[in-house]
Amino acid sequence: MNSRWNDDEARNVANDLIGLRVYTSRLLGQEPDLVLHGGGNTSVKTQKDDFFGNPVETLLVKGSGWDLRTIEEGGFAPVAVNTLHSLAKLESLSDSEMVAQQRMAMLDPNAPNASVEAILHAIIPYRFVDHTHADAVLAISNTSDGEARIRSLYGNRFIVIPYVMPGFALARLVYETTRNLDWNDYEGMILMNHGVFTFSDDGQASYEKMIQLVTEAEDYLERHSANAVSKDSSEVSLMELARIRKTVSEIRGAPVVAVLDQSPQAAGYAAIPDIKRFGAAGPLTPDHSILAKRIPAIIETDNPTSSLQEYASGYRTYFDRNANGTQKCLDLAPRWAIWPGCGIVSFGAHYKRATTIKDIAAHTAKVVQSSEALGGWVPLNERDVFDVEYWELEQAKLKSGNTTLPLQGKIALVSLQDAALAEATVQSLLDQEAAVVAQFRESPESMIDHEALIIVSNASLLGSTEAAVKAFGGIDLLITDERLFSSTDLFDRESDLAKAVSYLALGIEPKIGILSNAPGSIDPDSINATHNRLSEFYNTPIDLVIADTKNGNTLKTLNRPLRERDFNSIIEDLSR
Ligand SMILES: [Zn+2]
Repeated sequence: MNSRWNDDEARNVANDLIGLRVYTSRLLGQEPDLVLHGGGNTSVKTQKDDFFGNPVETLLVKGSGWDLRTIEEGGFAPVAVNTLHSLAKLESLSDSEMVAQQRMAMLDPNAPNASVEAILHAIIPYRFVDHTHADAVLAISNTSDGEARIRSLYGNRFIVIPYVMPGFALARLVYETTRNLDWNDYEGMILMNHGVFTFSDDGQASYEKMIQLVTEAEDYLERHSANAVSKDSSEVSLMELARIRKTVSEIRGAPVVAVLDQSPQAAGYAAIPDIKRFGAAGPLTPDHSILAKRIPAIIETDNPTSSLQEYASGYRTYFDRNANGTQKCLDLAPRWAIWPGCGIVSFGAHYKRATTIKDIAAHTAKVVQSSEALGGWVPLNERDVFDVEYWELEQAKLKSGNTTLPLQGKIALVSLQDAALAEATVQSLLDQEAAVVAQFRESPESMIDHEALIIVSNASLLGSTEAAVKAFGGIDLLITDERLFSSTDLFDRESDLAKAVSYLALGIEPKIGILSNAPGSIDPDSINATHNRLSEFYNTPIDLVIADTKNGNTLKTLNRPLRERDFNSIIEDLSR
């Protein structure tokens, strides 16, 4: 692993402790082999004045909800070091009490909640502390003889801590373990099945130690021929993908966006003959279970639906086996699935979450293969992972970021001739956290830029529908104009239009929205005839939502051109 330290960039923060902390935190965050999407944490110790001008020894530690890749000064929570030291000396402390006490010891009431590792950062007697979940170290740690391998690799230069639940329990164990140690004898600390810490009074040195330690692990993997990954090609039936996404949405009780990773690496992982033996054994680091659950589903190619149902019943059993009676079972759906012949599919309540899980899955696939090459992937046991997945603090964190919008997780195809109407529609759909494919005859001069939006031009309706399924896993809403009614193809099984609508029939509460800005252009008789035949022909209820400027006789009749504010009510109809 190469250091990303840059002298020119660093010069700007040379005399600014917090600026330097932001800078090296971002360097760590830019390296996905170290941390993914909000994983890991960093801190710096400094002195701050309280309200009365008294100097207070302060730990600035990553606030919860912040990502190292993009963290700013405001993302660090200032906590009084003294209080954290006192907390470390307690025999026991619940994690919610710990969060409350950390909050009370903060020097800025508007700062975010301090990381749950704040006490641990405080007791490490160095100015800078860096913590990551480095892939290469986890690949060595998550094996049957992981601890022996870690000790033989790092000798006595690193403190090795057996796995224990993050938060107070971990801080407490490190406190006890290190009471009679001289920290100066060590370059860092390895947490088995979890991650690594480095520290120094010098910001650059703490960062470079992290890179050095990971490089040693990478070299170890190379020496043991344990850094190769399988590669293969992927051939996917889009209908099958749409069916998988529908089943997962049904099990979950809410629509999901499904992101298929068809890369040679993902396809290669899924194609490993004995993938069933180790593919669903446990996560890379228990932190991942909060977003991606403990294990993925493994899809049997000849019966995807029953594989997903089996996952659901297995998840229920897992919960019952481990729950303490106070926890509430999450939905039973997998967050990702290994699909032999095709690749890896990740499921999210919205597109961004699905891509986060896709990254977690890709890193897991790589590390599992390294550990297998070292003699066998042995991740953390089920019970300990469960405790993190159902950790009250983490569950609360997930819930707080989870206000569900009416179209969240839905997938829409917008095919409108009127460019202004198209743009307004696309924007309203994105605002509702739907994923969108916008089809234009020619590529528009300017268009909204959004990660959950794909623009296609010069494609048929079928081509655009397939683009939606490929990118997002399905299609639930087709939003088009009166052209649909002038087509005779809607009920011709062989036509592209009928094929496109067959994908829609696999959607979640599928609807066709007809937006017309040409008053009276939609003939009420053709609407009724179409509506009646649609559901019958496609063997599933497909609703029509009409917004016609004059004659629409179903849901909306407007005797004037559509205006921007009409969209809220149209979107409301679409989400019903
Ligand atoms: Zn961690």
